[in-house]
Amino acid sequence: MPKLAYLDYNATAPVRPEAIEAAANAMRQGGNPSSVHGLGRAARRLVEDARAQVAALAGTAPNAVVFTSGGTEANNLALRGCGRRTVLVSAIEHESVLSAPDDPVSVAATPAGQVDLANLESRLETVEGADTVVSIMAANNETGVIQPVLKAAEIARARGALVHCDAVQAAGRLDLEALFAAVDMMSLSAHKIGGPPGIGALVVREGIGLAPLNRGGGQERGRRAGTENVPGIAGFGVAAQLAGEEIERFGRLAALRDRLETEALAAKPGAVVFGQEQPRLANTACLANPGIRSETQIMALDLAGIAVSAGAACSSGKVTRSLVLTAMGVPPGLAECAIRVSLGLGTTAEEIDRFLEVWTGLSPRIGAAA
Ligand code: PLP
Repeated sequence: MPKLAYLDYNATAPVRPEAIEAAANAMRQGGNPSSVHGLGRAARRLVEDARAQVAALAGTAPNAVVFTSGGTEANNLALRGCGRRTVLVSAIEHESVLSAPDDPVSVAATPAGQVDLANLESRLETVEGADTVVSIMAANNETGVIQPVLKAAEIARARGALVHCDAVQAAGRLDLEALFAAVDMMSLSAHKIGGPPGIGALVVREGIGLAPLNRGGGQERGRRAGTENVPGIAGFGVAAQLAGEEIERFGRLAALRDRLETEALAAKPGAVVFGQEQPRLANTACLANPGIRSETQIMALDLAGIAVSAGAACSSGKVTRSLVLTAMGVPPGLAECAIRVSLGLGTTAEEIDRFLEVWTGLSPRIGAAA
């Protein structure tokens, strides 16, 4: 069996050794950050040091950072805790944004995979802006398409709406400082940047009131009750610092990704790359191999030691037709044949070659689309 070619960084990135070390040290050290004795104060120091590291990644002050159990909780806290009754979400958001509000108002996406700003404007005309929060992601997890958050925020704010940005896929990849400067709340998740799973943050502008989702102790300045996950937070802090130092190197992944796409399209007549003409994350390719269902492709690649994903498969392991591609108007028969390949700084040219060899060799006979 060849060494695993892991091409699924958008699902989760391998945990950095430095993050493992920081989390293990925090566990060995112990202590509750709310305790006033020395061990408690040492645990508090770990939490506050990590808060400063995460804040630096977001280009803001430590007080803005509320630690959560991940991106999902951060999105829920933002949309359910901010006190606005109307929630506008783009149709291509992650499930944790789409399902957080009880009755969200959907904003359409363009066929190229960006939020439709004209549709956002017309949706805003139908609601009370001052009682509204708008949620637009920084970059899409399936296509990698970078969203016009700055323009969307300008439009939303002109109507008095709050703006939330799910920046889970943007951390370590795009300039979060410019992004956060334009919005009110921003979600992050450690496991996408080589931190431990189960820890994330909502970064909140000064002056935005947030009602905690769970009631209990007054941790996180009353915004998130419960004893802090000190090991996770310590690992997140280190990962945030390292990810912030790697943004430029990350951009260079586009060369590998572009070669993958060019050779895939050349070898497979009828193959499609989604969002290719848009500004995208440098590591993400979303492509369809017509006539071969996503799960068939994933299984064949897995047998060859290559890990990729499809659709919104990161939650339950099941492959469902992509909501994102559906919102972009991709015909069902084609959306059902799409996979996502997402690279990381550990990806090699040889891994791309192996992917291409297996993927371009797949034949519709081994899994005809319905
Ligand atoms: N938002 C986006 C865009 C994501 O890609 C993900 C994870 O796939 C999440 C939110 C959820 O983050 P977490 O897994 O930390 O709950």
